[in-house]
Amino acid sequence: MAAPKCPKCDCTDTVRNGIINERQRFRCKQCNYNFTVDKVGKGISTYYVIKALQLYIEGVSFREIERLLGVSHVSVMNWVKKYQIKVPEKNIYHPTYKILNHKELSEFFANRENVTSAGMIVTELGDKFMLIKWERFRD
Ligand SMILES: [Zn+2]
Repeated sequence: MAAPKCPKCDCTDTVRNGIINERQRFRCKQCNYNFTVDKVGKGISTYYVIKALQLYIEGVSFREIERLLGVSHVSVMNWVKKYQIKVPEKNIYHPTYKILNHKELSEFFANRENVTSAGMIVTELGDKFMLIKWERFRD
C-alpha cells in the first residue's frame, strides 16, 4: 500500500500508525496529524495480517495481538483459520516482545547483554519497531 497524502499539509511523508475500528490509521511525519483511510477490501492491509500471523506463530495470544496491533482478536482467529496456520509444538524457548522507536532499538542492541544467549527478530510496526526475542526458560 502506498503512503497516502496528509489531508492537512498535503505531504506524502506518512507512516502507518495502527488500526482504528478496522481502518488503517496513518500519522503525518511533518505535522503529526493522525488520519484514517477508507477500507480496502476487507478493511485491513496485508501488512497487519502478516504481522498478526507472525505473532501467533510465536505463541502470542489473540488478546495480546489485539492489544499490540489494534486488530480485533476475531479477525486474527479468522486469518489463522483462513490460512490454516498451525503453531509448532511448544518448545523451551519463550518469546517476549518489545515495541521500540529507532533510538531505543539502537540502545537495546548497543548493550551486549541483550543479544547474548537469545535469538530475535526485528520487524517494522508503523513508525516503530517490534522486537521479538526468544529466551530459554530458566529451571
Ligand atoms: Zn501533515
